[in-house]
Amino acid sequence: MDIRIKQFTKIVVINTIVFLVIFIVLWVANIYIPVYFYKNVFIILAILFLALGLLFIIFSTVLIIIYKKKKVLIFPPKVLAKIFKIIYPLILSITNFFHYDKKIINQFFIYINNIFVESMNLKGNFKDILILAPHCIQNSSCNIKITSNSQVCIGCGKCKIYNLNNLQKKYKIKLAIATGGTLARKVIKECKPKYIIAIACERDLISGILDVDGIAVYGVLNKCPNGPCKNTTVDIKKVEDAIKNYILK
Ligand code: SF4
Repeated sequence: MDIRIKQFTKIVVINTIVFLVIFIVLWVANIYIPVYFYKNVFIILAILFLALGLLFIIFSTVLIIIYKKKKVLIFPPKVLAKIFKIIYPLILSITNFFHYDKKIINQFFIYINNIFVESMNLKGNFKDILILAPHCIQNSSCNIKITSNSQVCIGCGKCKIYNLNNLQKKYKIKLAIATGGTLARKVIKECKPKYIIAIACERDLISGILDVDGIAVYGVLNKCPNGPCKNTTVDIKKVEDAIKNYILK
């Protein structure tokens, strides 16, 4: 049998068994469990949802205050960053359900994430910094292969690779041009940075921030004057400021 059909059939059989088991459990429960038990279950569920709803409101209010004040108050930023990663999927599903603009919500979260990172007051050396930039920042008419080594760029100035290389030379930091999430993960594993400055669009930045565990990721949004993923650019000053914020004075 075709391997794909085999695999699909396996999944169908497993699903069927799961449905059958659920049916039998519910049917038996219907026969043997008294009505007051169900009532108690509903009460517990109602209280649980109320508690979750209140926690959600409290945390969202904290986020709004952080956004407005541009700094983290009272709560440790590392803890907030962890909660942030948990509630983000929930916010995203609500955004999708109501067809709100995902880009705006992602921008909000990237901004908040950067406030968390700044509030952690992380300080270290140049060698601990990794700048991760997307491949689309290279000018599309340029044939130089910069993904394995950006320093082969001849510095014509048509794109920001030239400026990023200058930052790399000036601060002796690591710079990687990644073509996607897999390559970015590989670079992080090899370089073992303590502080990442990630340049990307909203979607990639958010997924990078959520993906990386235990390393602070400061996000710098790239600009897309030619539409997504083509000849993108970035505010180099923002990247340099992010470097300066980390360096031990
Ligand atoms: S700056 Fe470098 S990478 Fe960009 S177009 Fe010029 S040579 Fe190519």
